[in-house]
Amino acid sequence: MTEKACRECHAITTGTICPRCKTASLSDDFSGLVVILDPEESEIAKVMNINEKGRYALRVR
Ligand SMILES: [Zn+2]
Repeated sequence: MTEKACRECHAITTGTICPRCKTASLSDDFSGLVVILDPEESEIAKVMNINEKGRYALRVR
């Protein structure tokens, strides 16, 4: 199964739409993987404007 990253919110999914923002704007060309376990305490989550735990791509092309 191929993982793709959402161009809108950078969430990583194996589906055809983003589980977060429900867009079909997904890309298989992404780099950098961050796992957010605690969005309240994570600096990365703040910078990336993430408020849910999960896996995200740093860069999506
Ligand atoms: Zn999304």
